[in-house]
Amino acid sequence: MSEPLVVIGNGMATARFVDELATRALGRYAVAVIGEEPRLAYNRVLLSSVLAGAVPLSEIELKPSKWWTDRGVTLLYGHRAVAIDHDARRVRLAGGATLPYGHLVLATGSKPIRLPVVGNDLPGVMTFRDLGDVAALQAAAVKGTSAVVIGGGLLGLEAAYGLVRAGVDVAIVHLMDRLMERQLDARSAAMLKRVIEKQGVTVHLGAQTAAIRGGRRAEAVELADGRVLRADLVVMAVGIRPNTELAADTGLNVDRGIVVDDGLQTSLAGIYAIGECAEHRGVCYGLVEPAYEQAQVLARRLAGQAAKYAGSVLATNLKVSGVHVFSAGDFLGRPGTSEILFSESGLGIYRKLVLDGDRLAGAVLFGDTADGLWYLDLIRSGAPVGGIRDGLAFGRALTERKAA
Ligand SMILES: Cc1cc2nc3c(=O)[nH]c(=O)nc-3n(C[C@H](O)[C@H](O)[C@H](O)COP(=O)(O)OP(=O)(O)OC[C@H]3O[C@@H](n4cnc5c(N)ncnc54)[C@H](O)[C@@H]3O)c2cc1C
Repeated sequence: MSEPLVVIGNGMATARFVDELATRALGRYAVAVIGEEPRLAYNRVLLSSVLAGAVPLSEIELKPSKWWTDRGVTLLYGHRAVAIDHDARRVRLAGGATLPYGHLVLATGSKPIRLPVVGNDLPGVMTFRDLGDVAALQAAAVKGTSAVVIGGGLLGLEAAYGLVRAGVDVAIVHLMDRLMERQLDARSAAMLKRVIEKQGVTVHLGAQTAAIRGGRRAEAVELADGRVLRADLVVMAVGIRPNTELAADTGLNVDRGIVVDDGLQTSLAGIYAIGECAEHRGVCYGLVEPAYEQAQVLARRLAGQAAKYAGSVLATNLKVSGVHVFSAGDFLGRPGTSEILFSESGLGIYRKLVLDGDRLAGAVLFGDTADGLWYLDLIRSGAPVGGIRDGLAFGRALTERKAA
């Protein structure tokens, strides 16, 4: 008889995990997936495109319903798991039903952070994490209204882009001195700011939110320097926090995320964590690629193969506000590293490569990211690039032609 395996969370990590497991050990486990969101797993990365009206809702499902059925998976979506009894090896759902497990995988993702300021709970103050948020934003994004997006990271910029395209008057308020500081250096961030401003978004850098003002609903955002920005709608995009409540209540070791070892196992044997809720070697990743790598390693282990997760090289390859952006590794550099810069401001193209000795340590690409994965391979492999250094900034095709 198949061993019961329960997965909590029906997000991106789970869809990949089930796919990898079914490929390797179909039938070995009786898999049940419990998901709080009332729908099949979807591509969360595409929520920005849905908000911007560029992709229809119908196109973001990761796998059709039949795909899950064909793999024998019991899908319980629209159900929240509320407790784990590890002695009895059962998961309890809201409503009281329980499910038995032999192995349990936590893939509960993250929650958006709400700034602890006065007025953060007023109607009109929203977050941007799931399809419910997108529906609420779309309903509120009426032409002519004013919105303030708090946070100039990826999510904030994506929300701003979607709103401005809907005819909303948008301002971004960002605490740091440049946009997307986790992915961009000062120069590429300045280029991005110019693009966004051209689209009609006002950007306030080095700006701290003091309060959200309003009577029955949000009306304005007050900054610490006293400025007041009109806001019928406020989007908080100030970061995420791993969803660890259930794990902590079960007594699992939780720091920022659910602590896992190189086998993705938590502090209790038989319980694993993958994706944004997991913390591995002190790192919680907020991107989909590490979640997929973890999903693959865990599936291989549960299929009886030898596999270890040693961490992921952080890389971001995306289109933000219509511009292609890529960054990976140590893209800021540090004492002892050197830089190669290439810029074609007329075309809106910029490249920065950071070298540690004769190895590529990091890269930022702005405008043209076609060579991003090639650079990422060089960073990951640690291959010496001294011999191709002269052509490196011009990309793969030119470098390989020169070398031939
Ligand atoms: C708008 C947006 C744009 C993004 N763009 C990018 C991008 O360009 N590139 C990139 O790499 N990443 C991007 N991300 C991040 C990416 O979506 C996440 O890294 C990825 O979804 C993580 O997968 P996960 O399975 O860990 O979490 P999730 O996909 O969040 O899935 C977790 C699921 O678990 C459910 N859940 C939680 N607790 C329970 C419970 N107790 N019971 C039942 N179900 C529960 C949640 O409801 C959720 O559906 C973006 C995210 C957003 C919101």
